Amino acid sequence: MESNNLPANEKQLNFLEEIIEKDLAEGVHKSILTRFPPEPNGYLHIGHAKSICLNFGLGKKYGGKTNLRFDDTNPVKEDTEYVESIQEDIKWLGFEWANVFYTSDYFDQLYEWAVVLIKKGLAYVDDQTLDEIRANRGTVTQPGKNSPYRDRSVEENLDLFQRMKAGEFPDGAKVLRAKIDMAHPNMQFRDPIMYRILHASHHRTGDKWCIYPMYDYAHGQSDSIEHITHSICTLEFDIHRPLYDWFIEKLEIFPSHQYEFARLNINYTVMSKRKLLQLVKEGYVSGWDDPRMPTICGFRRRGYTPESIRAFCDRIGVAKRDNIIDYSLLEFSLREHLNKVAQRRMAVLDPVKVVIDNYPEGQTEMLTAVNNPECEADGTRQVPFSRELYIEREDFMEVAPKKYFRMAIGQEVRLRYAYFVTAQSVEKDADGNITCIHCTYDPATRGGDSPDGRKVKGTIHWVSAQHAIDAEVRLFDRLFAVEAPDDCPEGKTFLDNLNPDSLKVLNNCKLEPALAEVKTLDKFQFERLGYFCVDNDSTPEHLVFNRSCTLKDSWAKIK
Ligand code: ATP
Ligand code: MG
Repeated sequence: MESNNLPANEKQLNFLEEIIEKDLAEGVHKSILTRFPPEPNGYLHIGHAKSICLNFGLGKKYGGKTNLRFDDTNPVKEDTEYVESIQEDIKWLGFEWANVFYTSDYFDQLYEWAVVLIKKGLAYVDDQTLDEIRANRGTVTQPGKNSPYRDRSVEENLDLFQRMKAGEFPDGAKVLRAKIDMAHPNMQFRDPIMYRILHASHHRTGDKWCIYPMYDYAHGQSDSIEHITHSICTLEFDIHRPLYDWFIEKLEIFPSHQYEFARLNINYTVMSKRKLLQLVKEGYVSGWDDPRMPTICGFRRRGYTPESIRAFCDRIGVAKRDNIIDYSLLEFSLREHLNKVAQRRMAVLDPVKVVIDNYPEGQTEMLTAVNNPECEADGTRQVPFSRELYIEREDFMEVAPKKYFRMAIGQEVRLRYAYFVTAQSVEKDADGNITCIHCTYDPATRGGDSPDGRKVKGTIHWVSAQHAIDAEVRLFDRLFAVEAPDDCPEGKTFLDNLNPDSLKVLNNCKLEPALAEVKTLDKFQFERLGYFCVDNDSTPEHLVFNRSCTLKDSWAKIK
């Protein structure tokens, strides 16, 4: 990981970059073409972001190109809603594809190639049920059994396959299998299924097809059709690679090659589309873009920037062995970016009233506040100050314990950009809750410094009560209460590991008036509180902010 903190040109190459540089140097390829191949059966998650950054990043780095290919071979689960969201997310991450293709574009070609394999005696129609096929596949230690239909003649296979396509048989009645070796030590070679019958409407090809190719038969050939040079996928596909090569070799088509890297895993979340869909369908979250979801649209709504996600993917690097990345590294990357670009504002999330008894009634002063200490060009703004303010309830204690430097009776404290004030007394309701804090201020400390050099140890933020605008603020915690939500004891599911306190809604927040005119996704640092962004639900009448992350850097400690 240290190497990634070096300037770009001094970074160590990852193993894929090494392969590509070698291929280019040796003239194996003149230029490179990668692809990102999502199945449009859900929204993209942060694991996909990793694959996107990798595929598009390599294309870009080596002056090549990257295709977006929708791997749409399962009509039952796929939908155009997903196709659109996937395109939106890739663009938002900052990448451009050379072409958009669909595996379904290749159904005719794939069918013709299946006919070629049948003619070569390398594929046959099998009438066994899926259960029989599974049962006869053998195990890692035991060879499988040949199907009784394995030795059908080429003519019979051609006839049956054509009739499968024509819709003569019901779902599950027959499959087309490659004829390889039922005793092969690599289970993938035990006559893998190439086509199955599925009478289902496809989101693009409609009812044209009722046979659909399996992943292993479709993927490599699709790469080959597009002349993909480096087909990059996750580690679990390494045992499929020999089969990927086998089809390409037997068909004598463009030799795309597959390379595998470790998939991204993050603690305190789940990353399978099936599980994310379940969270959405069963109402555990408000939608795919719920700010607690590990989806790209969830991160976007939460207030993540494309830059921060790209930096995260860069920082974790490309490995060949599976590992689990700490969630806080994402927050670290976000903080690092927002610290540079987010303007500062003052907001009070849990307000308590402060009255400055010796400040003139009815007076308002405009005080100058710096918008972003990291960016001088962002300038300053004027913040109204008056006799009645709000501060955070937790910024006051009647009696200050040791090391509590915020407001307390008799303890002088700085109001950010304003004055030194000293609390004198409190008012309480019948239950003993503080309803108002009475202070005095020192007019000579305007701007936040004392001319006599007097120091205060604490600075707190505030909002002028009369000028404050109301807002709802949503605070998020981890969606799951445990590090590995997928690990659960018998009889439990990942749903039992949900964190019941992952969302906290604060309805009585007070913001400085500069926040009145904001648009969805605008991002700010609320001083001392964290980074916040405007939620989709926000309207000018009812502002809603999401906390993207806190200011505290827990990652530094973990590292
Ligand atoms: P899921 O298991 O979440 O449904 P998937 O692998 O089935 O994911 P695809 O749409 O097939 O999803 O994936 C598109 C591409 O994204 C594939 O190349 C896949 O390897 C890659 N990808 C998916 N999940 C991850 C991950 N966690 N880390 C890195 N790459 C991933
Ligand atoms: Mg998949």
